[in-house]
Amino acid sequence: MVNRKILIAGPCAAESEEQVLLTAKMLSNSGIRCFRAGVWKPRTKPGGFEGYGEQGLQWLQAVKRQTGLQIATEVATPEHVQLALIHGVDILWIGARTVSNPFSVQEIAEALRRTDINIMVKNPAMPDLELWTGAIERLQNAGIQRITAIHRGFYAADNPNYRNAPQWNIPAELKRRFPHVPLLCDPSHIAGDAARVPAIAQKAMDLNHDGLFVEVHCCPQKALSDGFQQLTPAEFANMIKKLILRPTDSYADLLLQMRQQIDEIDENIFALLSKRMKIAQKIGDLKKENKIAALQSKRFAQIEQKFIEQAEILNLSKDFIKNILENIHSEALKKQI
Ligand code: PEP
Ligand code: MN
Repeated sequence: MVNRKILIAGPCAAESEEQVLLTAKMLSNSGIRCFRAGVWKPRTKPGGFEGYGEQGLQWLQAVKRQTGLQIATEVATPEHVQLALIHGVDILWIGARTVSNPFSVQEIAEALRRTDINIMVKNPAMPDLELWTGAIERLQNAGIQRITAIHRGFYAADNPNYRNAPQWNIPAELKRRFPHVPLLCDPSHIAGDAARVPAIAQKAMDLNHDGLFVEVHCCPQKALSDGFQQLTPAEFANMIKKLILRPTDSYADLLLQMRQQIDEIDENIFALLSKRMKIAQKIGDLKKENKIAALQSKRFAQIEQKFIEQAEILNLSKDFIKNILENIHSEALKKQI
């Protein structure tokens, strides 16, 4: 596991010298290559913990000196880049919010021009593959050679299963576009819940991601940010030990990717059906209040006709369309009676 994959771990944020040193030392035998910690934390609302800035960089330098691990931190402005370089940070990353803004990415690319730094690019918060692609291109155009992508999931308002929905087909397409850019998975920001991190990490391995970028804190209950999703160093070591790496073979990869796409489509179909039934139920209540019969055959015939006319374009048989609609309609009717 450890030799075949890139492993980066560390707390969401550097909170004190003791916290980063303790976490790094506890992690140093679990095969990680690099220790991560944010020192500038982008907060959704003002008033939250925004990180210790330059002081945090000094703590990271102590980690590097005492453990020999490489150190990584998030940068969002050219000033952050300058400070991180001065303090010997080995790997920088651009966070999801910053990647969403092409002006910021361009400024960071300019600040990095003529450096030999290793930079990681998280996906933007919204499921926009072109923005992610564009950020990588901006860095490449500035002559930066060592670029890594990090998949941290995408904003999804009504998906209770994830903090950020993985939409695995998007990183797969990014990998197709940039086959030589290593792709890491950040299961912590996808899960939003420590208990769900290992399953997502395993999925990323099954889909042949090149490594993991995981939030680990010496004492997650006391964390100043993202405490609920951070693993302890022992949990991290245990997860890594249990991960199964499958042999890589392009047929199996392709099959897995396509099955993943089908699973996501099925999830969406059922989420939409559930939404549709809730609306049907409300219509039923309205009909009851106004003493109208639940069954409105004319309306159903119109819906059916509309989709049957589209059968050819949809590449679906008329029988299939009829069956699906009749099933949906009868379920909706049951909800209205
Ligand atoms: C982080 O990795 O700590 C972070 C802020 O992540 P993201 O930009 O993915 O939200
Ligand atoms: Mn975090």
